[in-house]
Amino acid sequence: MAVLKMLGVGHSESLAHWNNNAMIEVANRRLLIDAGYTIKFALRDRGLTLADVHAIFITHVHADHCFGLERLAYECRFKYGFKPTLYLPPGVYEELWDQTLKGVLGQVGEGPAELADYFDVVLLDDKPFQFGGVNIEFFQNQHTPTKPSYGLMINERLLFSGDTRAIPEVLNRYTPEVILHDATLADWNPVHASLQELCENYPENIRRRMYLMSYEDEYEQQRERVEQDFAGFATQGQEFEL
Ligand SMILES: [Zn+2]
Repeated sequence: MAVLKMLGVGHSESLAHWNNNAMIEVANRRLLIDAGYTIKFALRDRGLTLADVHAIFITHVHADHCFGLERLAYECRFKYGFKPTLYLPPGVYEELWDQTLKGVLGQVGEGPAELADYFDVVLLDDKPFQFGGVNIEFFQNQHTPTKPSYGLMINERLLFSGDTRAIPEVLNRYTPEVILHDATLADWNPVHASLQELCENYPENIRRRMYLMSYEDEYEQQRERVEQDFAGFATQGQEFEL
């Protein structure tokens, strides 16, 4: 049985929750959906270490989604001695390597190093890919303008929005049974979806299937409203069948 587990559900500023990262687990193999700077703690909470990770998909280059790759790179190469597979959707490689990781990973004791020295890098085109029989499609969402950023549609069943504002045209295209959607509890945000924006853009029948993630630490204040208008808050460790 394949499942998606929420490793963290927190806003980038959160102290109460880990970074908003998830994991697909199938036949004892694991694909991370993002690896932020809290990834080791989040895996530990699930009884796992970086050595239990077989592959990673990066939705976009923000610290709470990709800074954990520094640990994965060094520890998998020098401590555990293997290369995880790194799936990168279009446009992400340049930001990730040239502008972000090269400064910390580009030089090691043995000399210069490339991203491919740490990971089996798979540069995706726009086609779906498979992980352990799980079908993974991805789509551009609406996060920081002009920045490559993606969400996932998994097994034609579960939609994981990634960091994004409301994307009603995408949800209409896929008609998912379960939705994990970015949310901010602030009144407005230029790169995340407020509760009001979600309510204005999605009808009730869609919101009933929608769990909110990537939220601020003050979430208890909004629990009643969220449980009334949505399926609820996604919680750390929560599992969804795929
Ligand atoms: Zn982001």
